[in-house]
Amino acid sequence: MKEKISFFLSRQLLSIVLLIIFFIVSSLNDALWLSSIDEVLFVTGVFILIYIILIKVIPLFNRNLAGMEILAFLLLFIILLLPKLHSNIYEVSNGKIKLSYLLGLFGFLFLIVIYQLNFKPKTSFTKLKNYIITVLALFILIEICIIPSIFKDRNLLKTEILNFEKNKFDAQFKLTKKPNIYHIIFDAYTGFDGLDRYWQFRDTSFLNYLRTEKISFAYNAKTCNDNTLESITSLFNLKSFNNETKFRSLATKSHVYRKLIQKALVIETLMENGYTISNLSIFDIHDKKRYWDFPWLDPNISFPQYCFNQSLIGNLYKNYQSRNIANNNLLIISDLKQKVQVKKTSPLFTYAHLIMPHTPNNFDKDGNYIGNISNDKDAYIGELQYCNKIMIELIEMVKKDDPSAILILQSDHGSGMIPSNYDMEVSNILSLVVAPDSLQLEWPDSMINQNTYKHVFNALGQYAIPITSCQD
Ligand SMILES: [Zn+2]
Repeated sequence: MKEKISFFLSRQLLSIVLLIIFFIVSSLNDALWLSSIDEVLFVTGVFILIYIILIKVIPLFNRNLAGMEILAFLLLFIILLLPKLHSNIYEVSNGKIKLSYLLGLFGFLFLIVIYQLNFKPKTSFTKLKNYIITVLALFILIEICIIPSIFKDRNLLKTEILNFEKNKFDAQFKLTKKPNIYHIIFDAYTGFDGLDRYWQFRDTSFLNYLRTEKISFAYNAKTCNDNTLESITSLFNLKSFNNETKFRSLATKSHVYRKLIQKALVIETLMENGYTISNLSIFDIHDKKRYWDFPWLDPNISFPQYCFNQSLIGNLYKNYQSRNIANNNLLIISDLKQKVQVKKTSPLFTYAHLIMPHTPNNFDKDGNYIGNISNDKDAYIGELQYCNKIMIELIEMVKKDDPSAILILQSDHGSGMIPSNYDMEVSNILSLVVAPDSLQLEWPDSMINQNTYKHVFNALGQYAIPITSCQD
């Protein structure tokens, strides 16, 4: 037995093989409900190619084979597993340990191995290699053991989605009035009450403007969810999707919630009532594709894309893409203004989603590009004031060019930047509505975002859809 184990441990490149197996199995477990077998085979093929290349390259150095293997192992570990390791540590340590710290640590280890190989080529790496192999084998075993529970979770989730969808179609609303509707989300805009209480900030000129123009706003508006996916799902389905699933990654969660948003009750209702849909958002709605891919909500979730996104290179690529946020926000605003001004034949529903004042806060209060990428509180308030300016422009434009329309300006959740009052601050949202007097559409002071379209449909179809609380 002992001989068998040592024969097994002494296999060349075994640590690399196990690392690759672990990466595929754990990614597969993360993404279990979204991958097809062809995709898995494609990814496996790519890794077999990497392995063959390593087998050819490593002996060329002809020095210390075990040492070269450890070096290759470290490199692959940094590229493939470090972001996974980081996202686990991140949860536990409340985000205190950054990916760059881990990158520094493992980069340092990498340099030590290079030093050993160069200046002490006779160093034995056998013990280290055995240790790595044992740990990896153990991790692979754990990943395989949890597969049945993932299948169980997946089936449970399917049932929960079915129930959610079934209830949805019990409600069908015929609208007698069909004004154009513009719904604009300012992502992560903390509501007025939260700004006042936790930021000690009040944009008095904006609040005065809203009051003099008699615009209905909910000072204490709330969301029952603290994140974009769940909040937008509740908004357009008139209720939360409550489920027990512990998603292993944001990509899998995104996959589920995006579908619920795409086929949401509000969108279907408006379609059935003859509305044309204009989509300026980060989600697909009905048959209208999203305006752009907001990289941090992982929209590309085929298995190869998933594997790429989870790697270090994928993470760096997302950061690089994030630079487009500023540009896309500006494009959306100008498209939105065009939608307001253009003559319409059928009623139009426009959903625009701005990643503002969500970080990175690219603009100062006057709309100058400053490109701030840190979580800076002054920068957040600056961009928030710019959002207020945009809102005034939109309100003026709608009043002038499309006075019979409904304009809803709202956020999906607060900033979440005040750890001491996280729950209170993040659940307080922006919520205001501009509508012609004839519709008598007003927000109650303690509006909850999942009730938004209950108020709208009640006004447009003489319904009395009951208003719910977060606990219902
Ligand atoms: Zn959001």
